Amino acid sequence: MAAPKAFADCETNIPDYEYTDVNTKVFHIGSFRNEWLSRLNPEDVSYEQEDEDAFDANFAKDMGIGAETMSELKSVCSIDSLRCHPEDQPPDMEVVPPDPTLKTLIQRKKRQDYKATLKRTKNRHDLYANELERSTLGRTPETVSDMVPEGEIILTINVYYPATYDKFTYVRPHATLLMMGSHSLAKLRDAICCVRDLQVCGEFSNNPDMAPDFVSKDHYKSAFFFFEGVFYNDMRFPECQDISMTTIEWAKSRNFPPYSQAKMEDTQFVDLKVKVGFPYLYCHQGDCEHLVIITDVRLVHKNDCLDKKLYPLLTHKHRIVIQKCAVCHLFISRWLTTNDQFAPSHPCLYCDKCFRMLHYDDQGSKLGDFLAYPYVDPGAFN
Ligand SMILES: [Zn+2]
Ligand SMILES: [Zn+2]
Repeated sequence: MAAPKAFADCETNIPDYEYTDVNTKVFHIGSFRNEWLSRLNPEDVSYEQEDEDAFDANFAKDMGIGAETMSELKSVCSIDSLRCHPEDQPPDMEVVPPDPTLKTLIQRKKRQDYKATLKRTKNRHDLYANELERSTLGRTPETVSDMVPEGEIILTINVYYPATYDKFTYVRPHATLLMMGSHSLAKLRDAICCVRDLQVCGEFSNNPDMAPDFVSKDHYKSAFFFFEGVFYNDMRFPECQDISMTTIEWAKSRNFPPYSQAKMEDTQFVDLKVKVGFPYLYCHQGDCEHLVIITDVRLVHKNDCLDKKLYPLLTHKHRIVIQKCAVCHLFISRWLTTNDQFAPSHPCLYCDKCFRMLHYDDQGSKLGDFLAYPYVDPGAFN
C-alpha cells in the first residue's frame, strides 16, 4: 500500500507511512483514486482480458527483450513443463506424490495434511474459515447493471468488538468487510453485527412472556463513526439523536481542537480523509464502542468479486464461543438470572425451556425469589 518515496514527498493524497508498518498519514480517498486513475493506462484498470499477443509484445517491450528470447522464455516457463509424472501418462490432479520436490507440490501437500488434521480435530467453523472469501472471489453479477464499475475503490475494513471478557487473550475478535468507495457510512453501520443491538433491557421474572419482542436496535437508533475529528452521525430516522454533541461541547469547553459533525448517510467513503491502519471509532447503543481500522484502500481488480449486490462483503468473522445453558448444556442461553436459589452460579444462564421448567409451576407461577433478564448470546451471529 505504501507509495514510492519519490511520490510521497511531493504529493498529498497518496498514502505515506507516518509510522512504518502501522499507519499512513491522512489522505483523501477520492483524490487518491483520481491520482491512480490519472497515472494508469485505461487497460490497467479495465476488466477486459488483454489478448495474448498484445500482452507478449508489451511484456517484451517492457523487459527490453527480443521476440526470440520471448518465445524461448514462454516455452521454458510454460506450465506444461512443470510435471512430476511420466509424459505419456495423464496426471491425476487430485493426487500429490508422497515425496514431492516441486515447491508448489510441497506447499500443496502441507495444505492437504493440514486440512486432514483440521477434519479430525476442529469444527466446521475452522474448517470453512476461508470459505467466505473463496466463494466470492472473481464472482460476476447476472446483470451488467450490478457490476462494480471499473476504477471503483475497494476498502478493507476491520471492525473490532468491545473486549468485555474477563480473560484477555490477545485474540481481538473482529469482522473484516470489503466496501466500495461509493458506499455511505450508513451502509457500513448496517453491515456491523453487534449483539448489543439485539439485547432487550429489563427484568421479567414475574412474567417472562412479557419480555418484548423489539430489540435495542429498533429503539435506540443513534450511532456515530468518528474519523479525523469529524463525528458522522446516523440521522436516518426521526428518533435519531446527535449523540456526538455531548463530546463536542465537552471538548469546546476545555479548549480542545474543534470537532465537527456530518451525517453518515450523506457521507461516502470517497469523501473521507483517513489514515490507513489507524484506529477510528464506531459507537452505538450509547456506549458500545468498536474500533474501526481501514487496513487497505485500492482500486478494484477484475479478480475481485464484481457483483455489487454482494457488498459490503464479509470476508472474515470471528467466532465466539457460545454460552450453553447451565442445566442441559445443550441449547444456547436465553435467560440470565441473579439472586437465584436454584442456580449453580451467580449470575446463571439458561435456555428458555430449562429456565421455565426450573422457575415456574404448571400454572406459570413464579417459584422462589430471583431476577431474570432476557439474554442474547454473542455467538448468535456465528
Ligand atoms: Zn456494539
Ligand atoms: Zn437448557
